[in-house]
Amino acid sequence: MARKKVQLNYTGKDLEHYEALMEVYYQVTGKMRQRKDEVLDRSNAEKRGVTTHMADVSSDNASHELGLRQLSEDGDVLALVEDALERLAHGEYGKCQDCGEMISEARLKVRPYAVFCVKCKSKREQMES
Ligand SMILES: [Zn+2]
Repeated sequence: MARKKVQLNYTGKDLEHYEALMEVYYQVTGKMRQRKDEVLDRSNAEKRGVTTHMADVSSDNASHELGLRQLSEDGDVLALVEDALERLAHGEYGKCQDCGEMISEARLKVRPYAVFCVKCKSKREQMES
Protein backbone atom coordinates (compact mmCIF):
# COMPACT_ATOMS: atom_id res chain seq x y z
CA MET A 1 0.00 0.00 0.00
CA ALA A 2 1.34 3.42 -0.92
CA ARG A 3 2.19 5.64 2.01
CA LYS A 4 0.21 8.84 2.16
CA LYS A 5 2.32 11.80 1.16
CA VAL A 6 3.42 13.77 4.18
CA GLN A 7 2.12 17.29 3.99
CA LEU A 8 4.72 19.81 4.99
CA ASN A 9 2.99 23.15 4.44
CA TYR A 10 1.49 23.35 7.90
CA THR A 11 -0.26 26.46 9.08
CA GLY A 12 -1.52 27.83 12.40
CA LYS A 13 -1.63 25.35 15.28
CA ASP A 14 -0.36 22.53 13.08
CA LEU A 15 2.72 24.54 12.26
CA GLU A 16 3.29 25.27 15.94
CA HIS A 17 3.03 21.59 16.74
CA TYR A 18 5.29 20.67 13.86
CA GLU A 19 7.95 23.14 14.98
CA ALA A 20 7.74 21.98 18.59
CA LEU A 21 8.20 18.38 17.46
CA MET A 22 11.13 19.22 15.21
CA GLU A 23 12.77 21.14 18.02
CA VAL A 24 12.63 18.08 20.27
CA TYR A 25 13.83 15.96 17.37
CA TYR A 26 16.93 18.07 16.78
CA GLN A 27 17.60 18.40 20.49
CA VAL A 28 17.52 14.65 21.01
CA THR A 29 19.51 13.72 17.90
CA GLY A 30 22.14 16.33 18.79
CA LYS A 31 22.35 15.03 22.33
CA MET A 32 22.61 11.43 21.12
CA ARG A 33 25.42 12.21 18.72
CA GLN A 34 27.31 14.01 21.45
CA ARG A 35 26.83 11.21 23.93
CA LYS A 36 27.79 8.54 21.44
CA ASP A 37 31.05 10.39 20.85
CA GLU A 38 31.65 10.54 24.59
CA VAL A 39 31.02 6.82 25.01
CA LEU A 40 33.33 6.06 22.09
CA ASP A 41 36.04 8.34 23.43
CA ARG A 42 35.87 6.61 26.76
CA SER A 43 36.15 3.09 25.39
CA ASN A 44 39.01 4.17 23.13
CA ALA A 45 40.80 5.56 26.16
CA GLU A 46 40.23 2.27 27.96
CA LYS A 47 41.67 0.33 25.05
CA ARG A 48 44.78 2.45 25.11
CA GLY A 49 45.13 1.63 28.80
CA VAL A 50 44.75 5.19 29.94
CA THR A 51 42.85 4.19 33.04
CA THR A 52 45.07 2.30 35.45
CA HIS A 53 43.51 2.72 38.89
CA MET A 54 40.83 0.27 39.93
CA ALA A 55 38.62 3.00 41.42
CA ASP A 56 38.67 4.88 38.14
CA VAL A 57 37.79 1.78 36.18
CA SER A 58 34.64 1.11 38.19
CA SER A 59 33.37 4.68 38.07
CA ASP A 60 34.11 4.76 34.35
CA ASN A 61 32.06 1.65 33.83
CA ALA A 62 29.19 3.12 35.81
CA SER A 63 29.05 6.25 33.69
CA HIS A 64 29.46 4.15 30.56
CA GLU A 65 26.38 2.14 31.56
CA LEU A 66 24.48 5.33 32.30
CA GLY A 67 25.44 6.72 28.91
CA LEU A 68 24.13 3.65 27.14
CA ARG A 69 20.88 3.62 29.11
CA GLN A 70 20.40 7.29 28.33
CA LEU A 71 20.94 6.57 24.65
CA SER A 72 18.11 4.08 24.54
CA GLU A 73 15.78 6.48 26.38
CA ASP A 74 16.57 9.12 23.79
CA GLY A 75 15.80 6.55 21.13
CA ASP A 76 12.37 6.05 22.70
CA VAL A 77 11.69 9.77 22.59
CA LEU A 78 12.75 9.89 18.93
CA ALA A 79 10.33 7.10 18.09
CA LEU A 80 7.56 9.01 19.88
CA VAL A 81 8.42 12.19 17.97
CA GLU A 82 8.30 10.30 14.67
CA ASP A 83 4.92 8.80 15.60
CA ALA A 84 3.62 12.25 16.51
CA LEU A 85 4.82 13.68 13.17
CA GLU A 86 3.00 10.86 11.44
CA ARG A 87 -0.20 11.65 13.36
CA LEU A 88 0.21 15.33 12.55
CA ALA A 89 0.47 14.51 8.86
CA HIS A 90 -2.83 12.62 9.09
CA GLY A 91 -4.63 15.23 11.16
CA GLU A 92 -4.63 12.97 14.21
CA TYR A 93 -2.14 14.93 16.24
CA GLY A 94 -3.00 15.80 19.83
CA LYS A 95 -5.62 13.09 20.14
CA CYS A 96 -5.23 10.75 23.10
CA GLN A 97 -4.58 7.27 21.74
CA ASP A 98 -6.57 5.74 24.57
CA CYS A 99 -9.78 7.73 24.96
CA GLY A 100 -9.70 9.87 21.80
CA GLU A 101 -10.02 13.13 23.72
CA MET A 102 -7.81 16.03 22.73
CA ILE A 103 -4.65 16.37 24.80
CA SER A 104 -4.44 19.83 26.36
CA GLU A 105 -2.23 22.42 24.67
CA ALA A 106 -0.48 22.98 28.01
CA ARG A 107 0.57 19.34 28.08
CA LEU A 108 1.61 19.37 24.43
CA LYS A 109 3.77 22.37 25.10
CA VAL A 110 5.74 20.46 27.73
CA ARG A 111 5.68 17.18 25.83
CA PRO A 112 4.92 17.72 22.14
CA TYR A 113 5.15 13.98 21.49
CA ALA A 114 2.59 13.04 24.17
CA VAL A 115 0.51 10.03 23.16
CA PHE A 116 -2.02 10.04 25.99
CA CYS A 117 -3.97 12.71 27.84
CA VAL A 118 -3.07 13.36 31.47
CA LYS A 119 -5.95 11.20 32.69
CA CYS A 120 -5.03 8.13 30.64
CA LYS A 121 -1.33 8.61 31.29
CA SER A 122 -1.77 8.57 35.07
CA LYS A 123 -4.13 5.61 34.78
CA ARG A 124 -1.40 3.72 32.91
CA GLU A 125 1.25 4.70 35.41
CA GLN A 126 -0.90 3.37 38.23
CA MET A 127 -1.31 0.07 36.40
CA GLU A 128 2.42 -0.21 35.78
CA SER A 129 3.48 0.41 39.37
ZN1 LIG B 1 -7.08 9.86 27.25
